[in-house]
Amino acid sequence: MIELKSYLQNAWVSGNGKAATLVNPSTEEPVATVSTEGLDFKGALRFAREVGGPNLRKMSFAQRGEMIMAMSKAIHAHRDELIKLALENGGNTRSDAKFDIDGAIGTLVAYADVAKELGDKSYLPDGEAIQLGRSARLFGTHVWLAREGVAVHINAFNFPAWGLAEKAAVALLAGMPVLTKPATSTAVVAHRIVQVLIESKVLPEGALSFVAGSAGDLLDHIGPQDVLAFTGGGSTGVTLRGGKAAREHSLRVNVEADSLNAAVLGPDADVDGELTNLFIGDVVRDMTQKTGQKCTAIRRVYVPADKVDGVLEKLKERLGDVKIGDPSNEGVTMGPVATKQQLDDVRAGIAKLAGCATIVFGSTDPVAPIGGTKGKGFFLSPVLLYCASPKAGDPVHTHEVFGPVATVMPYDGTAKDVARLVAAGGGGLVSSVYSDDKAFVKEAVLAIAPFHGRLTIGSSKLVGQSLPPGMVLPQLVHGGPGRAGSGEELGGRRGLAFYMQRTALQGDRALLESILG
Ligand code: NAP
Repeated sequence: MIELKSYLQNAWVSGNGKAATLVNPSTEEPVATVSTEGLDFKGALRFAREVGGPNLRKMSFAQRGEMIMAMSKAIHAHRDELIKLALENGGNTRSDAKFDIDGAIGTLVAYADVAKELGDKSYLPDGEAIQLGRSARLFGTHVWLAREGVAVHINAFNFPAWGLAEKAAVALLAGMPVLTKPATSTAVVAHRIVQVLIESKVLPEGALSFVAGSAGDLLDHIGPQDVLAFTGGGSTGVTLRGGKAAREHSLRVNVEADSLNAAVLGPDADVDGELTNLFIGDVVRDMTQKTGQKCTAIRRVYVPADKVDGVLEKLKERLGDVKIGDPSNEGVTMGPVATKQQLDDVRAGIAKLAGCATIVFGSTDPVAPIGGTKGKGFFLSPVLLYCASPKAGDPVHTHEVFGPVATVMPYDGTAKDVARLVAAGGGGLVSSVYSDDKAFVKEAVLAIAPFHGRLTIGSSKLVGQSLPPGMVLPQLVHGGPGRAGSGEELGGRRGLAFYMQRTALQGDRALLESILG
């Protein structure tokens, strides 16, 4: 068993209190311990501000891009080792682990490319200069500069690699040092990534700090130039938004929270056709990939009433092929959920959904996992529910079950009806519409979009080349309104705005030009 240390003020440090134990969710065997008690978070933030910030700000975007590319290469060189750790500490199948780790590597590469476009500058002009007076002398313009604080990143348990990298890539490119904290329960992968980055000396001093374990009093020491980017449960997001620093410094906070993502099958889809096949494939992938522990996973499945029976049969057939077990065994396609707490929460969540829906596939009973013992490990079968008459306010529209669970619901085949039902989720990260009927797609997309950060449109012409809705892409924004946290990340250079200050400058045009080049 290893001890995970934190990396603060240029050194690996251990807490001195009672340690938390991280386990292998397939076997419940302990794999690591962590403690942050007694760690000097105030000093760590000051060091990052005073040493890491200046080191990054003196680099151009292009140089930061080279650094981000070197981070990607360093992680890639340890890919197999990281995949093994994700199997042991996250219960990931090999394919789940690759989704997380390759996602981290790919996002870093994408931001290294954004850096190339931004070039040798270290700050960004914003738009054209505007003449403010009658003469052509008085002008105004805008400029983006890196904030002179620390980007504090707090991540969820489900993507220890991607969560770290997708936030760090953007903050470091903007010129802010990062202090990153993964969720405690699955911190082994993030810990190894930070070790690799420090050992490979790809980052300047102070640019990256790491907290293994609980946040302790970290957030009490956040200052007015710092930012906080959080990913996790909605209620934790509310707590952090209402915290001391957030109140005292009007802290800039980004929240990526939970979401009841929907998938809509259009009225034109033939139940036996390839479009429905694409839809079924996406639903089953989202239910089982990472054992359903994806913030972007499809939770609500809307099907025209006359196609429900056919779609349910197809979903049940595909779910019947899922092989549940310890992912270290060949052939396993779905591992356990990450923790005992998760298992309890998923079971309780299914019971809640059953208040308005019926289980039509799977159950909450213990399963006999491949390569394991029944009753040992945090295993669960996929559970599909059917809610015959969904109404706004039903648990299916208000309660996220963060596991291999989805609910099928009928709608009357019109865009208006399904948009109303999708909106009942209170705002989401991503939803998807599968149809070749242009009028239906237009009406549905325009009605659903204001409630989401991203929409994917599946069509027959895209079969074989579409990307699954659950996959977050660095080029497109990620986040969503309402219960999804009202945050926004990524989206190419759009993501930089969170880590930079836009300032309006007004004065003599020639002087402004000499400052901004
Ligand atoms: P969580 O319990 O809210 O924890 C998230 C992170 O917050 C962890 O690092 C946790 O640390 C930390 N934390 C909890 N309380 C804190 C406090 N008072 N002060 C500072 N930090 C605190 O969420 P989770 O169980 O890890 O993740 C599952 C949830 O995340 C799901 O609801 C899912 O939908 C959502 N999620 C959203 C996205 C997205 O991009 N929108 C992505 C992934 C997951 P400890 O682990 O040390 O307690």
